[in-house]
Amino acid sequence: MEADIDHVLFSREDIARRVSEMASDIARTYHDEEDVGLTLVTILSGSLIFLADLIRELPMRMKIGLITVSSYPGKSTSSQGARVLQELNTDVTGRHVLVVDDILDTGNTLRYVCGQLREAEPASIRTCVLLRKPSKAPPDVQADFVGFDIDDVFVVGYGLDYDDHYRNFPHIGVLHERVYAS
Ligand code: 5GP
Ligand code: MG
Repeated sequence: MEADIDHVLFSREDIARRVSEMASDIARTYHDEEDVGLTLVTILSGSLIFLADLIRELPMRMKIGLITVSSYPGKSTSSQGARVLQELNTDVTGRHVLVVDDILDTGNTLRYVCGQLREAEPASIRTCVLLRKPSKAPPDVQADFVGFDIDDVFVVGYGLDYDDHYRNFPHIGVLHERVYAS
């Protein structure tokens, strides 16, 4: 697996440090440990490890909602438009929603998911992404909490996949071009 990684962008230690800082920002925004009626809506599958690490750094009461969206099906390394594979499994009406995603790239995924969520009339919607590709992120889709800005490269690891592989690579690395060229 490691042989397919061109280079590591963020080590597991870099990620852990940044996730902890993000959790502090998020906790401040939602008034620390009060029960504000928070639901974290996670966009699977790429965000699963990020979510697991993030929630264990957050002290407040919360619910977790899951939605599965695919925009890079199979062997694609460019967005094919957001498609829901599994609907949200919880009602967010009147709740404060924090959407958690792995990467903000073209913004199609977050735009689509936030649009769907708004129909349920939550008390508020904010968004949190571990990575953002600022060269592509459109002005109408903004993340309230961002881990790292990266160049327009295809990354895997820490939950992120290529053709459903590499999610278990513990760091975030750039996939070697020969993997998807072949
Ligand atoms: P968007 O809809 O903003 O174009 O793309 C967001 C989704 O596409 C992310 O949640 C992620 O699943 C996938 N994606 C975007 N860029 C990358 C990348 O560099 N690597 C991987 N593995 N997935 C990506
Ligand atoms: Mg995703």
